Amino acid sequence: MQTKEFNPFDMAQSQFDKVAEILGLDDGTRQLLRNPLREYHFGIPVRMDDGTFQVFRGFRVQHNDARGPSKGGIRFHPQETADTVKALSMWMTWKCAVVGIPLGGGKGGVICDPHNLSMREQEQICRGWVRQMSKNVGPLNDVPAPDVMTSAQHMLWMLDEYEVIEGSKNPGFITGKPVGMGGSLGRTEATGYGVIFTVREALNDMGISPEDTRASVQGFGNVAQHAIRLYSQMGGTVVCVSSWDQQDQKSYSFKKLSGVDIDELLKITDRFGGIDKAKATNLGYEVLDGDAWIEQDVEILLPAALENQIREDNVDKISAKVKIIAEGANGPTTPAADKVIQERGIFLIPDFLANAGGVTCSYFEQVQSNMNYFWEKDEVLGKLDVKMTAAFQAVNDLAKKRNMYMRDAAYVISISRVAQACKDRGWV
Ligand code: NAD
Repeated sequence: MQTKEFNPFDMAQSQFDKVAEILGLDDGTRQLLRNPLREYHFGIPVRMDDGTFQVFRGFRVQHNDARGPSKGGIRFHPQETADTVKALSMWMTWKCAVVGIPLGGGKGGVICDPHNLSMREQEQICRGWVRQMSKNVGPLNDVPAPDVMTSAQHMLWMLDEYEVIEGSKNPGFITGKPVGMGGSLGRTEATGYGVIFTVREALNDMGISPEDTRASVQGFGNVAQHAIRLYSQMGGTVVCVSSWDQQDQKSYSFKKLSGVDIDELLKITDRFGGIDKAKATNLGYEVLDGDAWIEQDVEILLPAALENQIREDNVDKISAKVKIIAEGANGPTTPAADKVIQERGIFLIPDFLANAGGVTCSYFEQVQSNMNYFWEKDEVLGKLDVKMTAAFQAVNDLAKKRNMYMRDAAYVISISRVAQACKDRGWV
C-alpha cells in the first residue's frame, strides 16, 4: 500500500519510463501508456448492521485496452489508495501482454477492512460497487476478478447484481467465481502454481534440481499456499513463511528448518492467511520477527504478500545463498532495492511474469463462461503450464540475448506489444 515515502504509481511510471527509453518510444505513445485511459472514483453507501450508514470509497481504473477488454482484480483493503489501484492497473496491462492473452489492464478497489465487516455488509459493498460501475464494465469491455481480501463469494454477489441490472445471464462478466457457478477448476491454484512453473524453468536453466533448494516465503494467503504446495511436491523445502497478525497489527515469520508442513499450517490459519502464533509454537515453529523471512539462508525467496516489501533498508539482509527471487506479490520490490538485486546478479522473476498465472486462468474462465462449456482441472492446469512456460522462455531468451535484467526484458516484450496494438489501432 501507499506510504509517505512510497507511491506505487510513481514506481510503475519509473519502471515504464526506463523501458520506454530502451525502446525509444515516441512521445505520444509514452504519454498514452504512462497514465491510465480511464479512472472511476465513487462512493458506496451501505446500511451497516447497527442501522447506521457508512460510505465506502470505491475505484476502478482501466489502464489500457488496446489488446482486449480490461482485466484485473478488486481489492478490499483499509489502506487502499487511488494511486495503488492505478499502479496495479498498469501492471495488469503488462501482465496480460507478457503472457500473450488478448486482454488489457484494469484494477479496482474499495477502502474497507473486511476483518471488521459482517458478510452482509461486505455483500452490500460488492453490490454497491457494481451499481456504480455497471455501465463501464462487462464481458466485452472490463472483466473484474478477486484480489486481496476478496473471494469467489464476493465475485458471485457482484455477478448477481450485474445480471439483475442487465436482465440477462452474463457469466463472462467476472472471473474467480465459485466452481459450479461459472468458475474454472484450477483458478484457486493458478497464481501460486504459475509462480512455481516459472521457478521450475529458472532452476532447470541453471541446472539446479528443486530437491537441492530451500525457499522462504512472505505471506501465507492464496498465492503463497499454492506456491508452497507445488514447490514442495517438486521436492523443494520451504523453511520459513510469514503472515500478518491482525490482533498484534504486525507480521511474524514462522521457521522450521526441516521444512514447513503446508497441511499442518493450514489447520492453524484463518481465512485471511493469518497464522496462529501460539499454535505454531506448539507445533515446533520458531516464531520470529516479520522481516525474518527475507534473511534466511535459502536459494529461493518468494515475496507473496503485498507491495513495498523488499526495500533499500532491508535488501542487504538477503543472504548470499539466494539465487532466485520470484515475485508472487505485485510490486514487492522498490526500484532502489531492485538495483541492488540486479547488481548482485540474483535471478529475478518479475511480478507481472511470475504471478501471471492468475490472470491467465481468469482468461480461461472467461472463455469457458462465454462458451458455457467447462474444462477438466488437468486441462486447465496443463494449458496454464504451457502459457507460463512459453512466457518465461521468451523473456529469459531475450534477457540472455540482449544481456538484460529479467524485469527489463519482460517489460520490453510487454510494452512493445501494447505500443504496437495502440499504433495498429491508430491511437498514436
Ligand atoms: P491473500 O489476502 O490471500 O494473502 C495475503 C497474505 O499476506 C496473508 O497470509 C497475510 O497474512 C499476508 N500478509 C499481509 N501483510 C503482510 C506483511 N506485512 N508481512 C507478511 N505477511 C503479510 O492475498 P493473495 O491473493 O495471496 O495475494 C498476495 C499478493 O499476490 C498480492 O500482492 C496480490 O496482488 C498478488 N496477486 C494475487 C493473485 C491472486 O490470484 N490471488 C494474482 C496475482 C497477484
